Amino acid sequence: MITQEQVDRILRLGGNGLPFVSLYLPVEPDRPGRRTYRARLASLLEGIRPLADDRSLEHAVRVSLRDDIAKIEKRLGEEPQRPGTVVVFSCSGHGVYEEVWLPRATHERVVVDADPYVRPMLAVLDEYDRTCAVVVDEVTAQVWEYHLDEVRELAAIRDRTTRGPEHAAGLDEVRVRDRADELSKRHYRRLIGELKRLFKEGGFDLLAIGGHPYQVPAFIEFLPRDLHDRLVGRFTVDRDTATAADIRDKVRVLVTDRAYQEQERLVGEILEAVATKHHATVGLDDTLWAGSLAAIRTLAVDAQAVAPGVVCDRDGLLARTGEQCPLCQDALREVPDVIEELVKTVIEDGGEVRHIETETDLHTHLTGALLRFELPPHPVDAE
Ligand SMILES: [Zn+2]
Repeated sequence: MITQEQVDRILRLGGNGLPFVSLYLPVEPDRPGRRTYRARLASLLEGIRPLADDRSLEHAVRVSLRDDIAKIEKRLGEEPQRPGTVVVFSCSGHGVYEEVWLPRATHERVVVDADPYVRPMLAVLDEYDRTCAVVVDEVTAQVWEYHLDEVRELAAIRDRTTRGPEHAAGLDEVRVRDRADELSKRHYRRLIGELKRLFKEGGFDLLAIGGHPYQVPAFIEFLPRDLHDRLVGRFTVDRDTATAADIRDKVRVLVTDRAYQEQERLVGEILEAVATKHHATVGLDDTLWAGSLAAIRTLAVDAQAVAPGVVCDRDGLLARTGEQCPLCQDALREVPDVIEELVKTVIEDGGEVRHIETETDLHTHLTGALLRFELPPHPVDAE
């Protein structure tokens, strides 16, 4: 699981005089006929090996690069089973090696630069909310992180003040209840403080509250406005028996529902903008043209959509068909899925990508986009 601490750590790297190797290697176990993972890794590393032997570079730079290449070759073992991208940031001269797994494919590439090349990683992660899930009762709380469909426990909080019927001896019922309420409030306040800190430092987008149905609302009433605004929903769970998988399943339902709503909202926004002719487009041909011109601010892709097409390796033109690039006249290369090429291009150009998993009006159009500027007309096809 990629943690916010890891992302923050990666963003702080760089500027220390030695180069970083940033490597993105897509994992596509279900794509037969492709060169193997190891072969693709080897050829990416071949691309930077001349730098490691370049006598015009400082000795320390060459040694660091040579060690980076050796380390990456050694550390990246077999191809993972899940489709996605393996990302490495390495600077051996400073003892830095970070490996990250992303749930979607990016362009295959290796970059050597003073800073780590993070944009594709950030663009992919941007599509996934990070959720803080709290399982709460009057005395305890468990805080979990849910991200990329995995959970991990961040903290367990138990109020130090013990209480129970045995402490009530000699007190009348009303005073016992008041005392219990007072302790719960103190516990809730402490938990709120902890959540505020986590949201400030942990990069969380959403909050989910779980526990017994009669205890959850009491805590939700305590939430300050800023945390309440992040609330994605509540779930019922038995703190004593719940496993990590139980928490994950409960939170997944809430987060997925929310994601579907967001997806529908985006598709609505695109169609509305198309109808009023305001910096938007829908349908594969126009969206490919927009992608070719780096005009896409937010791309919406029907999650099931696949379409063969062509790309120009010189200027990145994308189209459904054609033999010659209308921009540069080079021969176009056929690809099995031009929509995937479009997604990678938008990430590369600093745009947002949203996969639409729910049934919307986008389904028949395959793709749509909010644009940075109005598109010029299509070039006349050479044919
Ligand atoms: Zn071209």
